[in-house]
Amino acid sequence: MALDLVIRNGLLVDGTGAPARRADIGVLNGKIFSVQEQIQEKAARVIDASGLAVAPGFIDPHTHYDAQICWDGALTPSSWHGVTSVVMGNCGVGIAPCRPETREFAMRDLVNVEAIPFEVLNQGITWDWESFPQFMDAAAARKPALNLAFLAPLTPFRHYVMGEASMERAASVVELNEIKKLLGEAIDAGAFGFSSTLLNQHMGYAGRPLACRNASREELRAYCNALRERGKGAIEIAMTKQIGVMEEPELELLDFMLTESARPITFIAMFDRDDISEAVRTSLRKAAPMIARGARPQTSPLPLTREINMRNPFSFIRGIEEMGGSNGRGSRRRPGQGRRRRVSRPDAGRRPRQRVHHDFVQQPRRPDGGDPEQPGHAAGPRRRRRAPRHVVRLGLSELHAGHLGAGKEGAHAGSGWLCAGRESSTQSSTAR
Ligand SMILES: [Zn+2]
Repeated sequence: MALDLVIRNGLLVDGTGAPARRADIGVLNGKIFSVQEQIQEKAARVIDASGLAVAPGFIDPHTHYDAQICWDGALTPSSWHGVTSVVMGNCGVGIAPCRPETREFAMRDLVNVEAIPFEVLNQGITWDWESFPQFMDAAAARKPALNLAFLAPLTPFRHYVMGEASMERAASVVELNEIKKLLGEAIDAGAFGFSSTLLNQHMGYAGRPLACRNASREELRAYCNALRERGKGAIEIAMTKQIGVMEEPELELLDFMLTESARPITFIAMFDRDDISEAVRTSLRKAAPMIARGARPQTSPLPLTREINMRNPFSFIRGIEEMGGSNGRGSRRRPGQGRRRRVSRPDAGRRPRQRVHHDFVQQPRRPDGGDPEQPGHAAGPRRRRRAPRHVVRLGLSELHAGHLGAGKEGAHAGSGWLCAGRESSTQSSTAR
């Protein structure tokens, strides 16, 4: 039998937890037909995956591509990292439904919550929709490279029905019934549920709280009921006032929403913290009864505060390779050997063009509360010799755009660290 496709010689990581193994994969009629050490059958198309891992696509349950889908059907950088399905519209923020007169509300919400520049949104969003079902159709019309799943974000629904008052107050009974009806229509049209946030830092248009934060208990009950009445959909809610910490009000709300929706609820943010190392475990213990009823915490495999090693910067691998390969391969390439790099290399002498905006410096703290720059009894002689590290968080998109460290003084290539240094000038030289 002739197969449609064979992927040969790859290292198969099949997603079951089994060890990686060398295997060929045969595809017929769009489905995996056989997995064997060596497939003998002929195939219309053969992909040689030598030296590569072959794995099922990753599902990213938490993205904010709602605007980006207008101009980037490839949904980068997710598609570069092996993600094949994304859930959009998280955290109650989004751009549909939207009337022409409130487009600026939606864009400013995204500027403040997701740090997407206003100019980008203003030029990039196509606004070929008004309702949420129309937005889903518009996204599908881009022929996206990945599978899209939509959550209906509560904020634009409140803008749509309440106008500017959505940023000031709870909805009236008439308004909440209208919002509930529209959420129901979105779910009937294929949305996976709705999303909201309680986070203090989720500020929207004009620096006011994101409109969904003003939703009353009665509103939340109504919106949860929209799911229960249909017996479908899920809820995503950003609810930890302190990252990783579930307090009594959050636990009570989670319980309430589970009861009113009778549907799964995924909540954030259960990030590991270096300052309260037990926070997440304690929160998960407290939330165990709700988890048993269908609540699902969202976390990250990486801690909240990270140091990035330029020799193996997984998150940024594409950007780094395009800048010339800080892993050494790029800089060892001789002129005329192999494919040329399109973007400047570290030794090309080009200066980074734009400042990275999302950097901050976290001053390390000593257990005894003393100044980490000064030697102290608690630090001990071995500790005294080490320079404290300054941690800088960088915007991914800007990093990829080549703004970081293409010049010699940019990337601290000598030390191998993106942003670890004794001098505070490390920050400015890295992030120029
Ligand atoms: Zn989010």
